[in-house]
Amino acid sequence: VEPISGPRSVALPPDYTEERFYAAAATLRKLIGNENVDIVDQPLNDGWYLQHPKTHDAFQVLDQDDFVASCVARPRHTEDVQAIVRWANEYLIPLWPISIGRNLGYGGAGPRVRGSVVIDMGHHMNRILEVNEREASCLVEPGVTYYNLYDCLQAQGSSLWIDTPDLPGGSVMGNALDRGVGYTPYGDHWGKHCGLEVVLPDGSLMRTGMGAVDGANTWQSFQHGFGPSVDGLFSQANNGIVTKMGMWLMPSPKSMQAYQISFKREEDLGAVCEALRPLMVRGVLGNVPSLRHVLQEAALHGNQRTYYKGPGPIDEETTEKIAERFGGYWFLYGCLYSDEDSCDHLVDVVRDAFTHIPGSAFYKSDDTPEDSYIRTRIQIFSGQPNLRELGWVNWVPDGAHLFFAPISPITAKDAEKQFKMVKERHRQYGFDCFSTFCVGPREMHHICCIIYNKADPKHKWGAYRMLRDMIRDAGKEGYGEYRTHISCFDEVMKVYGWNNNAFLKFNETIKDALDPNSIIAPGKSGIWGRRFRGKGWEL
Ligand code: ADP
Repeated sequence: VEPISGPRSVALPPDYTEERFYAAAATLRKLIGNENVDIVDQPLNDGWYLQHPKTHDAFQVLDQDDFVASCVARPRHTEDVQAIVRWANEYLIPLWPISIGRNLGYGGAGPRVRGSVVIDMGHHMNRILEVNEREASCLVEPGVTYYNLYDCLQAQGSSLWIDTPDLPGGSVMGNALDRGVGYTPYGDHWGKHCGLEVVLPDGSLMRTGMGAVDGANTWQSFQHGFGPSVDGLFSQANNGIVTKMGMWLMPSPKSMQAYQISFKREEDLGAVCEALRPLMVRGVLGNVPSLRHVLQEAALHGNQRTYYKGPGPIDEETTEKIAERFGGYWFLYGCLYSDEDSCDHLVDVVRDAFTHIPGSAFYKSDDTPEDSYIRTRIQIFSGQPNLRELGWVNWVPDGAHLFFAPISPITAKDAEKQFKMVKERHRQYGFDCFSTFCVGPREMHHICCIIYNKADPKHKWGAYRMLRDMIRDAGKEGYGEYRTHISCFDEVMKVYGWNNNAFLKFNETIKDALDPNSIIAPGKSGIWGRRFRGKGWEL
C-alpha cells in the first residue's frame, strides 16, 4: 500500500477509504504499469486550452473539486483497457473514459461521479491506423486529434479533408462520440463515423457494422452491417469504451466559395430562418452554415471592456452601436462547394434568397475587410484547423464557458421564441447573450454560449442556475438539448421524459444488463446504473 503523501487529499471513489483505494490502485499499477497510473493527490491546475487537465473540469461551474478523478489511468493498448475494466468490476470503482478530454463547456475531462478513475484513452492509443484514399475513409484510435489527422493527410499529399469543430485540439473520436459538429458538408461527425471497436463493461471486445464479419474489408465502407444497429449505444452513452473508430473523409471539391451575409436588425432573425430552410432542405447550402449574433462577432475582436465600461451585461443601446460598427446584428457564415470549376451559379442562388431582407448584404470572403472573421473561418470550411474561436473566452476575466444548446426547427417562430427566451434569462442573471444557430439539413443547433468568470463564485453560480433555468424553460416549450455539461445531464434527461420516461427506462434496462456493476461512466447523459440510481447522485 502506497504511503499517503500528496499535499491534496484524494477524491475517493464512492464507499472507499484511503487505505482500500491505495491498495486497489497498487493492483492497477501492476496491470498497466506503474508509470501509467497517476493518483490525483496534487493541487488541481486548470491549465489552459493547449495544456488542459485530465483530472477535472477546467471550466468548472460548481466547485473545482466536485467533478474530479481519484486517479488517471493511461492504457497502452486495447488489452490494457480490458484489464482496467475487469479490475474496476472487481473493485467496484467507476471509470470515466475520455479520448483527449478537451470537451470544454461540456465537462472537459471531469468525471460525473467524484472519485472515478479517468481513463486517458488518448495518451498512448493515438495512432491513425489507416487512411484509405480510394474510399475516402480512415480508422483511428482515441488520441488522434484533428491536428494529427490533418498533419497526417498533408504529409501523405492526400486530397482528403478533415472536418474540424470550432476548435481542433479535441479528438476525432471523442467529438464524434459526443456528437459534436463541424462546418464542411461532413459536419455531422457521428453521422460520418463508420464502424466501432468497443470494450464492453465485462471486458470483452466487440466490433460493430461490417467489423463483426471476420476478415471483412468493408468495415469503413458500410455503416449499418446486419441486424440491430447498436452503434448509438456507445454515443453520449456509458455502455462501453471505444478503442477504434472508422470515419469517412471528404474528398476536396474542385471549387469552393466562402461567404458572409450580414443582416441589419435583430428582428431579421425570423426572416433569415425562413429563407434558410428551403435552401437547406433542398441541399443547396453545402456545409453547416452558422448564424451568429453580433456580440459573438464582437467577442472575436475584443472583450466586454473594449465595448462597454458600465457594469455588465452590455445594454441594448451599446449593442446597437456595436452592430453599427460591425455592419449588422446577425451574420451568416457559410461555404458553397462544387465539382465544377466555379461555384458562381450557387452564389447567385444563395444571394438571391436573402435580398428581400432590407439592409442585408452578401459578401464573398475576398470582398470583406482584411480582419473579418470569414477570412479565418474559410480554413475551418476547407478542413484546416484554426484556433481563432478561443478568442471569445476572454470576454470576461478568468473566462470560462458553458453551452446551452437546444435544437430548433428552421422556422421564424421557433428561432424567435428560443432567442427571446434566452435573452430574457441572460438579462435576468446579468450575462451577455451569445447565440449562434448552426444549421443542419432539417434543424438548427442553437448554441448559446454562456461566458462567465470562474474565479467569481457569484458569477459562476449564476451561469449554472441560468443554464438549468433555460433547460427547463425550453423543455416546457418542447425543446430539448443536443448535448449538455456534466452537471446538467439529469436535468436534460428529464426533458426527454415522454410517456413516463420511456426513453430513460429503456436505456437503464440496457445499462443494467450490460454493466451490472455500474462501472462505465455512471450518470453519463443522466443514465445511472442500478448501483447509483435513485441514491442521491442525480443533480
Ligand atoms: P475531446 O476528444 O473532444 O477532447 P473527450 O475526450 O473529452 O473529447 O470526449 C468527450 C466525451 O466522449 C467524454 O466525456 C466521454 O463521455 C466520451 N468519450 C470520449 N472518448 C471515449 C471513448 N474512447 N470511449 C467511450 N466514451 C468516450
